[in-house]
Amino acid sequence: MKRRKTGPSGVVDAPLDTRTQARAKEEGRASVRDERLKTFEPGDNAARFLDLLGRRISRPLAVSMTACVHCGLCAESCHYFLARPDDPTMTPVWKADQIRKIFKRHVDWTGRIAPWWVKAGGPAGDEDLNRLKNIVFGACSACRRCTYNCPMGVDTGLLVRFARGLLTELGVVPEGVFNVSRDQWETGNQMAVSELDYLETLEWMRDEVRAELGDESVDIPVDKPDCDILYTINPREIKFDPRSIAHAAKIFHLAGESWTLPKWGWDQTNFGLFSGDDRLGAYVARNVYEAADRLGARRIVISECGHGYRSTRWEGYTWADVPQTRPTESVVVTLLRYLEQGRIAVDPARNPDPVTFHDSCNIARSGDLVEEPRRVLARVCADFREMHPNRRENFCCTGGGGLLSMAEYRPLRLEAAKIKADQLRATGAKLVCTMCHNCVDGLTDVIKHYKLPLRVVQVLELVSNALVLPGRAT
Ligand code: SF4
Ligand code: SF4
Repeated sequence: MKRRKTGPSGVVDAPLDTRTQARAKEEGRASVRDERLKTFEPGDNAARFLDLLGRRISRPLAVSMTACVHCGLCAESCHYFLARPDDPTMTPVWKADQIRKIFKRHVDWTGRIAPWWVKAGGPAGDEDLNRLKNIVFGACSACRRCTYNCPMGVDTGLLVRFARGLLTELGVVPEGVFNVSRDQWETGNQMAVSELDYLETLEWMRDEVRAELGDESVDIPVDKPDCDILYTINPREIKFDPRSIAHAAKIFHLAGESWTLPKWGWDQTNFGLFSGDDRLGAYVARNVYEAADRLGARRIVISECGHGYRSTRWEGYTWADVPQTRPTESVVVTLLRYLEQGRIAVDPARNPDPVTFHDSCNIARSGDLVEEPRRVLARVCADFREMHPNRRENFCCTGGGGLLSMAEYRPLRLEAAKIKADQLRATGAKLVCTMCHNCVDGLTDVIKHYKLPLRVVQVLELVSNALVLPGRAT
């Protein structure tokens, strides 16, 4: 098996974070540098995997490694198992056990004393690591629905991300994960958008909004100091959906917002969440926080993206070891504030088609944001219909966990999407709204595959449609 780094300035060569080093010393742990200096026989990935596992295990991980009582209650939470109910390898507990048995064999006392009793073992070599790769990357979208339904509090999503991180460090990853990680390390954004493309797209959208409103004062500012809002976006918006930037710019203009995008540090998405690479996570999140510091912005606003929200709002501060000194919120929360403060006027009759809402796993289950989008949609749509189950119990769009970048797992992903297709069909809606660019692509795949009569929209688009422009009746 070919051995690789995760990026040119990536895991192995990343600049050392002095605070992380200092903290490691204080805690009496081996420093990150010590980890790197440890030598192994060339190609001995299994030994390196075990070494990393021993060094990186944390208390929450150890709890999830040991607390499972194998009751099986999590099975029906998982869309993979629902699609293949006769296949025990699709249950969350079986998937987690493939990680757990390694921990038990090499770390936990039970497996070291009586490995046959607790089914401890592995990995023997590259073949086992490759098999583990196909489980943690290919048969789990890290949606954490099973976690939410486990009476023992076992976080299978956390275990999956941990195993992904160890494999990523060894380079035992799907090609797509390697490529996207490399792009984000090299260019600061996961779609390798150049600065020129970024700036030209923003100018193009600014001109579109000026033409639409007939107002030359509309601007999409870049690197403007001392603003109330630093707006951060998903590179997909520059590459495939620039209208979402235009919708935001139009709404910010009408609300009289003081805002800017940064020239560097604008990508709020973070592939470190999917690959399990906390160092990539820290690097990307720090870019955003430092942009806010550099420009003196008073609030960070994250455009509609599930894993970007979870990474920038929650996990990034921990990965980057940065104290949160300013509010960090989803643009949907910003929109709700405008509506409640009367800063924008809307007419729900402008969105007459039946609309349902898909809760993104990283926003609802792992981000604690469930009612705000509903309060916005209640004001801007004439016919809103809940999907069932919903909120924190919603099923994944099936493209979560970075799976959209892993073409080799697409057939299984779409097979596992049957429950999502059933959920969508039962609403009778014509539009499915989601506040996540990743879910837009995931749901679009499901809609095409299962031939559903739906179109995917986002909250910004529906709010933009519903706007009543000052001085205009229509
Ligand atoms: S992970 Fe939780 S729900 Fe699933 S088998 Fe283990 S204890 Fe039961
Ligand atoms: S995290 Fe989601 S996809 Fe993974 S095992 Fe649990 S329910 Fe299934």
